[in-house]
Amino acid sequence: MTDTETHHEYVGALHIHSNFSDGLRPIPEIAEIAGECGIDFLLFADHMTLEPIKRGLERWYDTVLSIIGYEINDKDNKNHYLAFGLDEILPPELTPCEYVRRTKEAGAVGFIAHPDEKRPSAAILPPFPWTAWEAEGFDGIEIWNHSSEWLEKLNNINKYYYIFHPLRYLRGPEPETLVRWDIMNKTQVMPGIGGIDAHAYPYSFGPFTIYIFRYKVLFKGIRTHILVKEKLSEDVPQAKETVLTALKTARCFISNYRWGDARGFRFKALSGDRTYLMGDTVHSESVEFIVRTPLPGTLSLLKDGMPVMSVDGSELSYTASEPGAYRVEVKKKNKPWIYSNHIRIQGKNKA
Ligand SMILES: [Zn+2]
Ligand SMILES: [Zn+2]
Repeated sequence: MTDTETHHEYVGALHIHSNFSDGLRPIPEIAEIAGECGIDFLLFADHMTLEPIKRGLERWYDTVLSIIGYEINDKDNKNHYLAFGLDEILPPELTPCEYVRRTKEAGAVGFIAHPDEKRPSAAILPPFPWTAWEAEGFDGIEIWNHSSEWLEKLNNINKYYYIFHPLRYLRGPEPETLVRWDIMNKTQVMPGIGGIDAHAYPYSFGPFTIYIFRYKVLFKGIRTHILVKEKLSEDVPQAKETVLTALKTARCFISNYRWGDARGFRFKALSGDRTYLMGDTVHSESVEFIVRTPLPGTLSLLKDGMPVMSVDGSELSYTASEPGAYRVEVKKKNKPWIYSNHIRIQGKNKA
């Protein structure tokens, strides 16, 4: 969908594992499924391998752009980091601070994966939270991760329901992740992205084994939408650059498709004769925020994590003068549907 004013919107499924690590299917098949689900681009992040790039799998598959990065972990398999744009795998003995720095130095883009992941004792896997917050140079944070949230809430009582309804129980990002993210955004642009972390978990029912997370289902869950000035190029490096730039400049928002197609959601700030979008900083003391959603819901505008206005409907406007990092959350029937990135207001005199 094209913004009637200036931008094109593309919808991505991020943090996908293929059969190059612990996903179930090959990349071309996943791209085909993504196309059927209305996804425009994919960010693959198999564990500690860039083999798909070497095999030429970073390309357009019909209408779906497949971008290949990889998920870095430290030598204890902790501190997962999603890096895109690296040509070579970094040495596996690096510490998180080192691989964050090396990713940046290489001109690549990196996101902290599932930063506050937790698991109950009965979970299939141990949690992999980010602990190396002293690292400098990361480009953004995966604030919402489907796999993390799903596994955190899985228990012996609800497991059959959860297995057959993997999208219904998503309750939004971890509260502590949102707090951390809001604080960071007061002083810098710190993009939030949503990841699927699509693995295929085998699950045994007596003699049968089923695979819990099917791509076809997951692609109808957490999506990251980008807004870009130019249409995505047929040239893969150029299109990849466009997507990664939109993500690292926070020109994006996150939705859960389960509650409706969020294409067309917009969060803008008007000041003087200029329009600002997510990722921007406004140097003014009089700003009008405008929010529009393609379907009605409960729209909340938050400043530094605290709600300042909430309306039921599909439009919100609010005149703000207070400096801070503003963002939007939209719920549908109390279910988390959309999380915008921030627009910052900084006083006129502040750089
Ligand atoms: Zn991970
Ligand atoms: Zn992963």
